[in-house]
Order: sequence, then C-alpha cells, then structure tokens
Amino acid sequence: MQKRRTTKKIYIGNTAIGGDSPITVQSMANTITSDTENTVNQIKHLESLGCEIIRVAVPDEFSAFSIKKIKNGINIPLIADIHFDYKLALIAIDNGADAIRINPGNIGSENKVKAIVDAAKSNDISLRIGVNAGSLEKNLQKKYGITPEALVESAERHIKFLEKNNFDNFKLSVKASSVPLTIKAYELLSSKTEYPLHIGITEAGTLFRGMIKSSVGIGTLLSKGIGDTLRVSLTGDPSEEVKVGWEILRSLNIRKKGPEFISCPTCGRTEIDLVKLASDVEKALEKLNEPVTIAVMGCPVNGPGEAKDSDYGIAGGKGLGIIFKKGKVIAKVSEKELLSAFLNLLRNDGYCID
Ligand code: SF4
Repeated sequence: MQKRRTTKKIYIGNTAIGGDSPITVQSMANTITSDTENTVNQIKHLESLGCEIIRVAVPDEFSAFSIKKIKNGINIPLIADIHFDYKLALIAIDNGADAIRINPGNIGSENKVKAIVDAAKSNDISLRIGVNAGSLEKNLQKKYGITPEALVESAERHIKFLEKNNFDNFKLSVKASSVPLTIKAYELLSSKTEYPLHIGITEAGTLFRGMIKSSVGIGTLLSKGIGDTLRVSLTGDPSEEVKVGWEILRSLNIRKKGPEFISCPTCGRTEIDLVKLASDVEKALEKLNEPVTIAVMGCPVNGPGEAKDSDYGIAGGKGLGIIFKKGKVIAKVSEKELLSAFLNLLRNDGYCID
C-alpha cells in the first residue's frame, strides 16, 4: 500500500472529503427523485448499510424542488446530479442541496457554469466536477481520442475556469468504464492536482461484473494512495454499491466499519449447507456496525481451529452445530437452532444487530 496522497479538504454538508478525513462511501438513489417518499425510504435504507453521502438525479424542476423534502427526511449529505440545465442546479442549491455534481462540458456556456459557481459560493457548498469518458469534449476527443490525457486535460480546463472565478471548493472525478483507462487517468490527475478525488468505475455493469471491475479499479487506486471518496456503480440495487464499497475499504484495511466475515471454502468434510448458512449469517448481521470477525465454518472438527483468530464463529455438521468464541467452543445446539442461538449470543454480548 502506498501512502495516501495529500489532498485539500472540502465539505459536503458536515462530511469532510480529502485531507486527513476518512475515505467515504457514496451511492446514488435510483428512485424517481420527485417521488420523495420512495427516495427518502431508499436513502434511509442505504444509510443503515453505511452509505455516508447520497446523490440523486435532478432531470427536471420537480426533482430540483424535491431536494428540500428529501433533505428533511434523511441524515446524510445530499448531492444533486445535474446535466445540461444550469437552472436546475440553481433551484437545487436554493432548496438546500449540500453539493452539486456537474460535468461543465455539458452545461454549456461559461456564463452558465459561472452562475452555478456563484450560487455555490454564496451558499458555501461544494461542487463535483465529473469528467466522464462518455461525454468528453469533441475537440479533446479529436486531439487525443478517449485517453487518460484527454480526460485529465478536460479536468484541467475546468479547474482553470473555477480558479479564475476564485472558487476552490470542489472535488474531481475522471471516470471511464474501462478499468485501465480510469486508473491511468486518476494517476495522471493526481500527479497534477491536490483537489480531492472522487473515484469509481462508471457504468461498471451488472452485479457480478460490476463488482469485480469496481473492486479491481477502485482497489488499485486506493492501494496507490489515490482517492478520497468512492462510489461503486452497479446496474441494480444501490444497497449492493454500499456493501461493495465498504468491502473494498475493509479488504485494504483502510476502514473497519462492521464485521469481517470469514467462511471456509468447503471441502469433502463439509456436512452442512454452508453457502446458505454463510449468506444467512451475513444477511442477519447487515446492521452490525462493530468491527468484529465472524466465522462460518463447514465442519465442527477443523472449523474452530481454522478460524481461531475470529471473535465469534459457528460450524455445523450432521445435524449438530457448534458456536465458538475466540476458537473455544461455548455451545452445542441442533443444526436447526444454530443461527438463532448464534444471533442471541451476539445480542447477549451487547451487539446491536436488529
Ligand atoms: S472448516 Fe472443515 S469443511 Fe471447511 S474447509 Fe476446513 S476442513 Fe473443510
């Protein structure tokens, strides 16, 4: 792991991005934004999974005016995602958005971008300048093709424009759906600027492929010390984005929120439906926030020993299940009662899992 690069600290609401602040996990709601009830419910669920910043699409005025109601119903900072129409950004800011994400390339004239900058300044909110391989300026595409240099030059143009307008309260992203292109672009950008970086692989794909692409791309960048906040983009339920984001941070030992799960790979000694048991345990502990290690093992003979470094564990076989703590067996129960007995033990030990 390389040392985290030094970046400037900015804020989205009360949440710091960059500098010495923790690398945060973001997601984006996929409800119709103006359906505020559904949007708030989804965001609250994402909050419960550890989402720290949320973005909503603002494609029309209804959505822009909905920001106020949504903000009142949630506890995490809210970013309005604006394309093409700068007026929607102004309405979103008026309605309390904590930050605005724009791609200045599709907002149009400099005056329109300046209107957003002025509103952000007077409301003391930050912006994300989101450069995207899919919407790169035509002249840069012609000069470079879709390359890291093109993405970074686009970002640099926007940086210059914002600085010319005495604005430095922003973070940057240079996303592509290609993992190597994204990694190179962020490496290049990070060598040229100290503004905080929002990292991710855009349009990464459906759950399986998207998870792998995001983990490889985001994981590589983080291990090079690059990235101040991240979003995993998946075609599907944003809950998965939050879970994958946390798992990436956890697997690199960057942040330790919630449990770490260990489960054995199974072998000829496995005497229980371990795949189901392991996923039932993960699901049941979705709301556990403490950094405990939980093991789910396939046989009672080797399981506790192989998982002796875990804080808590279960192993099953031949109708019988055992529960162990720090490698020591503390209870034997029937296989049917294994999960509920295990959850009761965690509750009795003071863990909040419900
Ligand atoms: S814990 Fe038991 S079932 Fe699982 S891999 Fe080890 S020996 Fe096999």
